[in-house]
Amino acid sequence: MDEEWSDDELRAAVHAYVEMQRNERTGTPFTKKSFYTRLSKQFGRSEKSFEFRMQNISYVLSVLGRDWITGLKPMRNVGAKNAAKIEAIFTELEGRKAVPVAAFEIDAHEAKKRRLARPTGTRKPSSTTAEITQHQRDPAVKAWVMQQATGNCECCNQPAPFNGADGSPFLEVHHVRHLADGGSDTVENAVALCPNCHRELHYGQGAKALVSSLYDRVGRLVRE
Ligand SMILES: [Zn+2]
Ligand SMILES: [Zn+2]
Repeated sequence: MDEEWSDDELRAAVHAYVEMQRNERTGTPFTKKSFYTRLSKQFGRSEKSFEFRMQNISYVLSVLGRDWITGLKPMRNVGAKNAAKIEAIFTELEGRKAVPVAAFEIDAHEAKKRRLARPTGTRKPSSTTAEITQHQRDPAVKAWVMQQATGNCECCNQPAPFNGADGSPFLEVHHVRHLADGGSDTVENAVALCPNCHRELHYGQGAKALVSSLYDRVGRLVRE
């Protein structure tokens, strides 16, 4: 897609996206079109181009393993530069500090489309030190959820695929409404998952369906 979107346009699009997402979560009725109409008038671009941009924003969120608005299916045609800007606007809006990942993932994705010569890589990769925002979690919540799972994934019901170094079944605790999206660190919002299901819930095409099935199947979960 065109790369000449101004920072103001990107910012306004992300703000609108966050507002729509909030409406979706709280069950407040809204039409996506009214957002596009407003943005279209403000910036003199078509409503359709804003709809596409919103789908690009969904794509950036999906790359980050985060939830996106139902009905705004991730659309991949966003360059690494704009993706990085969109990611930065989110972290700024949410008042967080995070390690940027979108540009790296999108560069890797784009590179996959070409026939690549074997890269030499870097023997001594340089590093940066960054400050990040971390959610304070309660170890008791993790422990209790793990106990409830009794060694089986609460998503696919299969036994943990391997034991950890300490010999206990390896499962990971996941917050169904992500902590980054304002989800609570409570047992009503946490499940124990095998690594496969955990990855799928963050990055899978079928993640939204899996979330619904978790709410149906795990009795203690409460939608937030
Ligand atoms: Zn599983
Ligand atoms: Zn998770």
